[in-house]
Amino acid sequence: MKKSAKRRPLRAIFFDIDDTLYSTSEFAEVARENAMNAMIEQGLNMPKDELQEELREVINEFSSNYENHFDKLLLRIPRRLYKGINPALLVAAGVMAYHDTKNRELVPYEDAVEVIRLLADKTDLILGIITEGLEVKQAEKLLRMRIVRCLTPGAVFISNQLGISKPNPKIYQRACSDLNVRPTESMYVGDNPINDIDPPSSIGMMTVRMRRGGKYSKLEPKTPPTHEVQNFWDFLDLLREECQIEV
Ligand SMILES: [Mg+2]
Repeated sequence: MKKSAKRRPLRAIFFDIDDTLYSTSEFAEVARENAMNAMIEQGLNMPKDELQEELREVINEFSSNYENHFDKLLLRIPRRLYKGINPALLVAAGVMAYHDTKNRELVPYEDAVEVIRLLADKTDLILGIITEGLEVKQAEKLLRMRIVRCLTPGAVFISNQLGISKPNPKIYQRACSDLNVRPTESMYVGDNPINDIDPPSSIGMMTVRMRRGGKYSKLEPKTPPTHEVQNFWDFLDLLREECQIEV
């Protein structure tokens, strides 16, 4: 635990969304698998593991936020493997299965919801979001989580909407200056060492690494986070014990 005598009282906490408030990578795995199953059921004649591997490549090459993964996937597959089938039917089958899974299984971590509500109701902290992604997609996650009322007005920062992407520290700078708080009075909570720890550290923010597991748990940041926790109840203890937040 790093303590600084010059440290100002904590005034603002910003949160990452994916794999911090939501089990996004786990959900995405399941949703993509269901989509591949649906395309195979619709007549695509290809072994599932090969199809999944091809999809992984598409996502790596075109980013996870690209909107037409399944169309691109079909372009890469020999036409004879879906001879006589209109490719639109295959894409639609995949998209439907993906969205059905999303409606059923994209749920936030319960402890995250409870702790954010508690902080909103019991403290004067500025609470916000700094997230990488597309505006409507990320906003949908906040709505599903029902925490919008807990967030300070004007405190939701989405990379695509700002034209600044993580890991550029400017996205963190922008959030602090818009809310009129110094970085040293602010904290960022996220799971990805490269995107969520090093950049806010570099401008003097406190950082909390949320380490539940997931795809970034083996990566190490260049600068150690101010704190590390495994869930939001531990995070709450940390606020009480290290940041003198009464809640
Ligand atoms: Mg994340």
